[in-house]
Amino acid sequence: MPTISSEPVVQLLADLVRIPSMNPMGRARAGAEYTEEPIAQFVADYVRRRGLDVELRAVAPRRLNVVAQLDAGARRTVLLEAHLDTVHADSMSVPPFSATIVDGRLQGRGACDTKGSLAAFIHAVCSLVEEGKKPRYNVVFMAVADEEYQFSGARQAVADGIRADFGICGEPTQMHIVRAHKGVMRWRVRTAGKAAHSAYPERGVNAIYSMGHVLDSLEHHSMDLLRGPGHPLLGTPTLSVGVIEGGQAVNIVPDSCWIELDRRMLPGEASGVVINDTAAVLGGLDGWSMDPPHLIAAGMDVPSTSPVVRELSGALSSSGISPIIEGAHYATDAGIYNEAGIPCVVFGPGNIADAHTAAESLDLAELEKAVEIVRRFLA
Ligand SMILES: [Zn+2]
Repeated sequence: MPTISSEPVVQLLADLVRIPSMNPMGRARAGAEYTEEPIAQFVADYVRRRGLDVELRAVAPRRLNVVAQLDAGARRTVLLEAHLDTVHADSMSVPPFSATIVDGRLQGRGACDTKGSLAAFIHAVCSLVEEGKKPRYNVVFMAVADEEYQFSGARQAVADGIRADFGICGEPTQMHIVRAHKGVMRWRVRTAGKAAHSAYPERGVNAIYSMGHVLDSLEHHSMDLLRGPGHPLLGTPTLSVGVIEGGQAVNIVPDSCWIELDRRMLPGEASGVVINDTAAVLGGLDGWSMDPPHLIAAGMDVPSTSPVVRELSGALSSSGISPIIEGAHYATDAGIYNEAGIPCVVFGPGNIADAHTAAESLDLAELEKAVEIVRRFLA
């Protein structure tokens, strides 16, 4: 039977999961459930009632960041950040917004990615304040919009001048410390031709055939990347072509075709260099052009000797967990903060394998352990 826990952090996670905050991801989806506004209001009210200074900052209409400060009079400031948005809840096999608890796991969209981390951070900070304990760092707590699509909440926070000595971005890492991850860039390559009746193809120029040559070169380039130099935690950069569209009808020689590229970049790889290298691969071909990238998110590589890695490792050890320090192939808000000069690692309860799935859920024992670790880190 589903149960409701009386544990405050579990209650908080349940409340967060019951407020839909799906990212529209560029599609025509409307309604409050496709914004971060209701959940941002909830989080802001929750931390304000517990004594934090908080403000809501607009990223876009109805897309909000929550920024809360706790001044402990400390020398150093830590950023604790988790995103408010989730992926959509179409065709889920569990009720997406009921926060049902089955076998010690709370089910629902966002339970794992990343409302579990959000609840753990909020509860760790607020419980210390309620107990009158001073954290050893000043805390900037942020709950941000739009991590799942364009990282625009984190970008806005950087543009607003967010400051911290180091930080933790909450994502489901199984409480491993992810100190390095890849970046990502996405853009389109187009080919242009000349339309003609398909019974007279020699009168036209077929843009789909031209794209075939482009694809062949890109496939070879993607294999070269896999054989090239890599990073000790992250391996090599990768390239994947994920979308193709071209032509209007089967009886017309197509005059246009486009593809969309997903290039995973190593930390330190510059987007301009990647664009130039990709263009050089296509250099011998005719009739193609590139759009400017519509997404660039930097990778990150925080040294294993940096204070945030050492001090979070210490908190794990004193909670009885051997720290595991690793890299990840996915991109997060941490890349944005690292690029802005704030060394941020990624850490939180839950498994990335449960994120974005039809039966998304979070182990509540892990959630409570995460609270303990973050409290030890802060206290
Ligand atoms: Zn996430």
